[in-house]
This record gives sequence, structure tokens and C-alpha cells, in this order.
Amino acid sequence: MEEIKCIGCGVPIQTEDPTKLGYAPPSSLEKEEVVCQRCFRLKNYNEIQAVELTDDDFLKILNGLGKQQGLIVKIVDIFDINGSWLPGLHRFVGNNPVLLIANKSDILPKSVKKHKVINWLRREAKAMGLQTADILLVSAAKGQGMIEAMERIDELRAGQNVYVVGSTNVGKSTFINRIIKQATGEEQVITTSQFPGTTLDMIQIPIEDGKYICDTPGIINHHQMAHYVDPSELKFILPKNEIKPKVYQLNPEQTLFIGGLARFDFVQGERSAFTAHISNHLSIHRTKLSNADALYAEHKGEMLSPPGENFAEAYPELVRHEFSIKEPKTDIVFSGLGWITCQTAGTVVAAHVPKGVAVMVRPSLI
Ligand code: GDP
Repeated sequence: MEEIKCIGCGVPIQTEDPTKLGYAPPSSLEKEEVVCQRCFRLKNYNEIQAVELTDDDFLKILNGLGKQQGLIVKIVDIFDINGSWLPGLHRFVGNNPVLLIANKSDILPKSVKKHKVINWLRREAKAMGLQTADILLVSAAKGQGMIEAMERIDELRAGQNVYVVGSTNVGKSTFINRIIKQATGEEQVITTSQFPGTTLDMIQIPIEDGKYICDTPGIINHHQMAHYVDPSELKFILPKNEIKPKVYQLNPEQTLFIGGLARFDFVQGERSAFTAHISNHLSIHRTKLSNADALYAEHKGEMLSPPGENFAEAYPELVRHEFSIKEPKTDIVFSGLGWITCQTAGTVVAAHVPKGVAVMVRPSLI
């Protein structure tokens, strides 16, 4: 069969998977000019739709990025900084400036100082070898910090294109959609009938001086919890509002279950405080370490959920990672699920997550 390409962005059309690049409903193939769903939505509704991409495709895009000239806006999720970081990016940006934007600031407790988080991000960027022109904290969903972000983008791009990159679920589409709405007004539909095709699988949104904001597909990071739960259960793990930290005074040999998704053991040490920063929609269940295995075997999918009844069987087995906590205020990060702050040093703890999900240790973010 002859390969059909989208007349908008130039990607090959496929009719199987609506979440992947180039999807168009089968009926659209009868038309003379086929537009992929992503371009269709942008053109008709002024809306960017999230599509996913594999690591290989992403490398291709990164390679292409370095050859372009413009501002690279890298979006990370403040709730899952490591999981959404895109560690390879700095090798590909060439001489282009990078604006690092941490999204979802609305989920941080109100008491958190913004500049502290930005300083933390600055250290993290440096440690990961990424040079940044600036670092901003925004909430694309709530609109916080967005005007400042738009102004900064306009300054830093110095008349060039803007390339927005990020892994899936960081809120890249929400961010771009807000820019489109703010720039064009709620009602006005973007008036290009054709988006120039590129080889980068990017969608180009025109801005006033003949330049573009280019949306790259979201990169799937397989170490994130989000890929191990059913899409219908994502709403439990992705926080929509300010997280209410929960403090647990634990004795050694006590365990916390985070729904039925993950588990935290206080293995050894003096009685200490542990603060959970997890979506308010997940319940935390405390039990004795010696009971934990049996409790999980018996109650996964019901008392310990999500995963719900229908998904419990398919949910991967948990793997144990042990850590000696040397410094007070150390976070154990469950990629994409949140983190537990160990308030005192000199303890041994263990995190249990599905095989493949990353667990990280860091100095406390907040
Ligand atoms: P994309 O895959 O990067 O394009 O991400 P989306 O824009 O589709 O957003 C992924 C999820 O994060 C959705 O559930 C959004 O509602 C949510 N989200 C996006 N921006 C924010 C934000 O600023 N705050 C919060 N709390 N959630 C957000």
C-alpha cells in the first residue's frame, strides 16, 4: 500500500492507535487530502493533542532539534522531576538556549517557597549537565506564572522559533494550549490552512512574526508509574490540586502501603517521622512489616487499591529497593507517584515498586 502522509505535519498516517503519532480515523482515508487527528484538532479547535513516541523516534527528533535555530523550552513535571527529565537532551541542543519550565506548581503545598524549588532545580540541572537560560515554575492548568513564562519565551527566543519538548504527562499540551488561547483569544481559530511539513514530526503553531511554536511529541518514560496503571486509574495518581503532606510517626518494622501500587518499609532505626507527598486521592495504609507480604497478597485490588479489582492481577510484582538514610530530610521518590521524606538520618528504609519503575533518593525538595 502506498504510504499516505498528513498534509498538515507530514507524518505517515496510521489508523490503529489514536494515542500514537499520525493517527487518523479509517473513514478519513477516503478523502483526497488526509489530515492526522493532531493537526485536525489544532486546526479546528485550536488545541494541541498529546501523542506518544518511542525512545528511538525521540532520538531522531533530538538530532533534528540541534540543527534548528531557536529557543528550546523543556517542560518537566514538578511532581516527577527525575522521571520527566529527558536526560539526553543537553547533548543535542547545540548552541540553542534552553528554558527549563517546571509545571504543576499548584500541587506543591502553599508553604513551599518558590525560590527554594527553583534553586533546587538549578542544582539538579547543573548536576545533569544541562545549561539553562532560565528556570521558571508554572501551573499551566491553573494559569499561574504563565504570563511571565510567555514574556520570558518571547525575550529568549530573540525572533526565532520555539521548540517545546517534554515527556508524556508533564502537561506540555496544557501549556501550549494555554499559550494559544492567550495569544489568539478564546474564540479565534488559528488561521493557517496548512502547516508546513517537517521531518521532525513537529506541529508548528504560527506566532506573529512569521515564526512558530513547535510541539514535539511526548516522550514515553518507561520508568514512570503512569505506564503500569490502567489509564482509567491515572486520575488517582496524578494530583490535580495542592498535595496535603501526611506525617507518619513510625516505629521500626512498620510499613506504609500507597494504595496497592507501592510500599514503604521502615526497616531499622529509632522511631522517626516520615512525610508522604502523594496524591490526595490515594489512601495510605499502615501495617506491621512482618504482616505486609500477607496483607498485600490478600488485599491487593480491594482494601489496597488502586489497582482496582479488574486490574490487580495484571499489576506487576513489586521489587524491593533498600536505602540507608545518611542525611536528615531525604526524599525517597517513587517515579510518578510522589515521594516520602525521611525526616531523620540514621535509618534504613525500603521502597517496593513494580519492576521497571525507578526509585530515587534526593535531598528534600521542600
Ligand atoms: P502532555 O502529555 O505533556 O501533553 O500532558 P497533558 O497536557 O495532557 O497533561 C497531563 C496531565 O497533567 C493531565 O491530567 C492534566 O490535567 C495534568 N496537568 C497539566 N498541567 C497541570 C498543572 O499545571 N497542574 C496540575 N495539577 N495538573 C496538570
